[in-house]
Amino acid sequence: MSIAVKKDAAADSSLKIVRDATCTFCGCVCDDIDLTVKGQQIVEAKQACELGTPWFLNQRIDARPSCLIAGQPASVADGIERAAQILAGAKYPLIYGLSDTTCEAQRVAVAIGDWIGGIVDTPTSVCHGPTGVAFQGVGEVTCSLGEIANRGDLIIFWGSNPAESHPRHFSKYSLLPQGMFLPNGRADRTCVVVDVQKTASVDAADLFLQIKPGRDFEALWILRALAQGLELDAAETESETGVPLSAWQDLMTRMKAARFGVLLFGMGLTMTSGKHINTEAVLALVRDMNAYTRFVAKPMRGGGNVTGADNVVTWQTGYPFGVNLSRGYPRFNPGEYTTAETLARGEVDAAMIVASDPMTVLDPAACEQLAAIPLISLHSQQSPTTRAATVAFTTATYGINTPGTVYRMDDVPIPLRPAFDSPHPSDLEILSGIERRVKQLKAAAR
Ligand code: SF4
Repeated sequence: MSIAVKKDAAADSSLKIVRDATCTFCGCVCDDIDLTVKGQQIVEAKQACELGTPWFLNQRIDARPSCLIAGQPASVADGIERAAQILAGAKYPLIYGLSDTTCEAQRVAVAIGDWIGGIVDTPTSVCHGPTGVAFQGVGEVTCSLGEIANRGDLIIFWGSNPAESHPRHFSKYSLLPQGMFLPNGRADRTCVVVDVQKTASVDAADLFLQIKPGRDFEALWILRALAQGLELDAAETESETGVPLSAWQDLMTRMKAARFGVLLFGMGLTMTSGKHINTEAVLALVRDMNAYTRFVAKPMRGGGNVTGADNVVTWQTGYPFGVNLSRGYPRFNPGEYTTAETLARGEVDAAMIVASDPMTVLDPAACEQLAAIPLISLHSQQSPTTRAATVAFTTATYGINTPGTVYRMDDVPIPLRPAFDSPHPSDLEILSGIERRVKQLKAAAR
């Protein structure tokens, strides 16, 4: 099949092959995808999984004008001027999104936030925000996915279902690869799933511990106690977690015996009751385990470039999301400076949404406020947010139409290799124009 396609591509000069393109549909950010491109359409995505393939094949150029002001076609230059006027004149502006664009564009967006004294927030505040909070308190014993592929002999997935959310994680990184120190691949590894329900990932595991919903914190502290050699009451342990003490003891024995243990945790842990204290417990447990062996923890981050957004916002402000720059220096307080809450309280008086559609996920009160204030949107596709925008830019799609850098879930930067050109400007071009004009307006107002 692949040979036939290659021949067709070679024979048909209208087909272009883009090798080692990057998929940003999930946090694996696979950079080994070979695309066959015909005009402005991707017709084949080799190596892509069942999630990545439709994502590539359904990429289309949006037919809207590159800029609409109050629903009417306008030049991009006029759109930039209007957007800059809105942002520079606002008292408490919000910049939100950034998880589906390049690091280069994210960097400019944060700079605009600084010039206008606004809030900079990303979808991390509604997914792995508690992880960011826990990092600030406990720190992180970490590694790259390459180290997991080469060394990880005990892999624990906690509150995460990679079989469905990150389909190539098992084969590329965590279970199947024959690593430098794991020559027999899957046979050299033990896989444990801890979750509140039996997911598709359980089929790939050697061991499944089904805990009671909302008892991740208790379960993690039981493991911390066992790591210290403390004695626990068997009946209480089982009644708290739904799992017998003997099963926890068996897991701890395996954890201490591992040469390179890995705990990969998902939103089943971070967005259930306990939130950041669950993540703190994971990070503290893994830190404890390093008294016995090498052990690391990694969040299973979602799609797009959300990891890049965390990194870029942190480079520039010291905090990963929900950063308030209104006093001229960064302040971090999730719940006070995060998008859902500031909008719901009616505090924000203008917003710029970059490559995101918060109107489909935020509570009604937050959406009502977003629709009531001057709103700027940059997005490659139409959405409820773009339709509500005062200034709506239609942008090229990162990775499909524009180059740049994104971060894989393990904080490794990956270059993008675009497939075909777009008539629309990139997020970076629009944001750079807005930043230039905002600086002029702020300087003139001094
Ligand atoms: S595993 Fe994720 S990044 Fe890799 S091809 Fe599938 S959807 Fe894309």
